[in-house]
Amino acid sequence: MKLRAVKGMNDILPEESQRFQRIESIFRNTVETYGFQELRTPLVEDLTLFQKSTGETSEVVQKQMFLLARERESLALRPEGTPSAARVYIGQKMQAREPVTKWFYIGPMFRAEQPQRGRYRQFHQAGCELYGDPGPHCDAEMLDMLVQMGRAMGLSDVKVQLNTLGGAEARGHYRGKLREFFEPIKASLSEHAQERLGDNPLRILDSKDPRDQAACEGAPELFDSLTDDDKQHWDGLLAALERLGTPYEIDPRLVRGLDYYTRTCFEIVASSGEIGSQGAILGGGRYDGLLESLGGPAIPAIGFAMGLERILLALGEQEFQRPALCFVAPLGPEAQLEALELAQALRAAGVRVELDSRGNSMKSMLRRANTMGARLALILGKDEVATQVVQVKDLVLHTQTDVPRADLPSTVLGIFTAASAEEKSA
Ligand code: AMP
Repeated sequence: MKLRAVKGMNDILPEESQRFQRIESIFRNTVETYGFQELRTPLVEDLTLFQKSTGETSEVVQKQMFLLARERESLALRPEGTPSAARVYIGQKMQAREPVTKWFYIGPMFRAEQPQRGRYRQFHQAGCELYGDPGPHCDAEMLDMLVQMGRAMGLSDVKVQLNTLGGAEARGHYRGKLREFFEPIKASLSEHAQERLGDNPLRILDSKDPRDQAACEGAPELFDSLTDDDKQHWDGLLAALERLGTPYEIDPRLVRGLDYYTRTCFEIVASSGEIGSQGAILGGGRYDGLLESLGGPAIPAIGFAMGLERILLALGEQEFQRPALCFVAPLGPEAQLEALELAQALRAAGVRVELDSRGNSMKSMLRRANTMGARLALILGKDEVATQVVQVKDLVLHTQTDVPRADLPSTVLGIFTAASAEEKSA
């Protein structure tokens, strides 16, 4: 047996976890200031939930589901977060509890794709779901939040790519026009697009196949099928984005892969790092009909999902600062016991401490302190225990002072605060 992780599913080792944590914490802090609260749902759902919401004709449901067949049960690993949140909203009758519900989630998603850089079979998404506000200002506020968040993460040239798919009426009308347009040139389309012509011709527009891209030249624009209400929503959204100074670009070809979108649909793109000059780090849109189509109330919704791996790729190999480390190096059994207590006091004061209790030589402990990048080494031997002092060795400045035991937490914190202020001003 080979001890290997499943293809396309990655172990995330501590150094990488740290990068994930940093992104997650910026995400949490940002969305919480906009009033979103965390929802946690199971990783496994009934397959029918995804068939009905993500959509029978979507690539995700057709080709990428991880199925778990059980007796009389057909379960699937979740490929995205929106269907589960919708299930909870309907089941909990949230509309009777509050007019507007705002949830966020963070967690692994599963899609049986061909793995490649930035595309995995288990990946992580952080997303938001907002129910109960049909207005364009709600869309603008969410888009502006995403641009702010992208910048806070350190991405550059963050901007919104925007389109409207219209409501159900406009989509129906547009689908008809697309069929009329593609039918005479059907033979020039890819096999996949030919199939989509029957069930979901919009998807032909975002096909990456060069044959389909060529066939799309001169295709009718959805904009011409919009109803007056759709147009009003769109104009309201653009006016609000202008007012907020949110950078956006209109992309009439942006349709996105999942079936449930209505009106606003968007991606956030940023340049830098490895995902190319302008990669999408996040996608989302409005799905005003989703809850109803699942047997729930006619409540509008909007949301997005951001791929954490994609963000990390976009950020490249940026160094993330960890909190300064204090290494405690005791020599001899008495000092070891004393050091346990000392480490406890330092941690209670908020200091990150590594205590070496292995009973090794001072030389080997100090080598380890240096390898771990510790700023301070606290040295305790028999004499120090007797006199209740600790030798504080600064591994960067190469200085050493004796500090009374009782003064230690405040002395260590003082050194760390001064060091971090220096780093920031450097
Ligand atoms: P979607 O749920 O398909 O709208 O995707 C939303 C975001 O999730 C994308 O913009 C990507 O950042 C990310 N994403 C989707 N599929 C994968 C995947 N297989 N591996 C890594 N990230 C993904």
